[in-house]
Amino acid sequence: MHIDILTLFPEMFTSYTNESILKRAQEAGHLALRWHNVRDYATGKHRVTDEPPYGGGGGMILKPEPIFRAVEAVLQGSGGAGEQGGRGAEEQRSGGAEENVSSLAPYPSLFASRSSPIILMSPQGRPFSQKVAQELAQHERLILICGRYEGVDERVRQHLITDEISIGDYVLTGGELAAMVIVDSVARLLPGVLGAEDAAKTDSFATGLLEGPHYTRPETFRDWSVPEVLRSGHAANIARWRREQALRRTWQRRPELLETADLTEEDKKFLRTLAQEEMERDT
Ligand code: SAH
Repeated sequence: MHIDILTLFPEMFTSYTNESILKRAQEAGHLALRWHNVRDYATGKHRVTDEPPYGGGGGMILKPEPIFRAVEAVLQGSGGAGEQGGRGAEEQRSGGAEENVSSLAPYPSLFASRSSPIILMSPQGRPFSQKVAQELAQHERLILICGRYEGVDERVRQHLITDEISIGDYVLTGGELAAMVIVDSVARLLPGVLGAEDAAKTDSFATGLLEGPHYTRPETFRDWSVPEVLRSGHAANIARWRREQALRRTWQRRPELLETADLTEEDKKFLRTLAQEEMERDT
């Protein structure tokens, strides 16, 4: 997967994406990340990227032209600022070929038919979730636009982007952390990225449930021992225990998830015993 990120602060991404799993994912060729500094696409001596809002009020608004130009350059395969690991040039060529460059103008409804989502990070967007991460992981390419200050000129929203995503009901100083959250959670879902192929399948939310508890060595830490069943070596019992722990945890913490989770008859029976236990405790 190729992810292009448009930002005024590309360096914010480097340390996080150059460690651990994201680093290995890039080295192994599962993921290609490229940053594009929006300032490089601004014109004039001072390369101005933001200006005060029409109508007054505080703060600065990101101008539309540099953002449009950056997206166009990325879609045409010439937006090369900051590719990682030396594979960028080749990827940009193949990226360019995949897009139909000749239909780039005029702006209105311009990019809607393209297969690569162009996503604005925004507290007003659709809420991000594991389900959205799974959906995004199906694409070969994503373009993420990070706002700053008071946000971006509305024409970016109206004529450039194909999607708008919020990572939660709070306001950040910029879209960079939000983009990083998306990159991180999507990368984790790409085939080959996690060491254990199945790990992502039992993660919280993947199955519609929260994941149950994990333990590692030592077997006894202070006075606290690892549950017997996990040391038993009995695969079926371990699987059942894990399932019940996931059900119990979801029931306690996020009961609304159970309404849409994929449950077997055995699961439902177990949930009934939990409800029964609670009733008995309350009476
Ligand atoms: N004035 C805007 C908020 C601007 S915050 C409003 O009220 O809607 C500045 C930038 O940070 C935004 O343009 C967006 O790119 C990013 N951002 C802030 N909060 C975010 C969130 N919850 N999810 C995704 N991006 C966010």
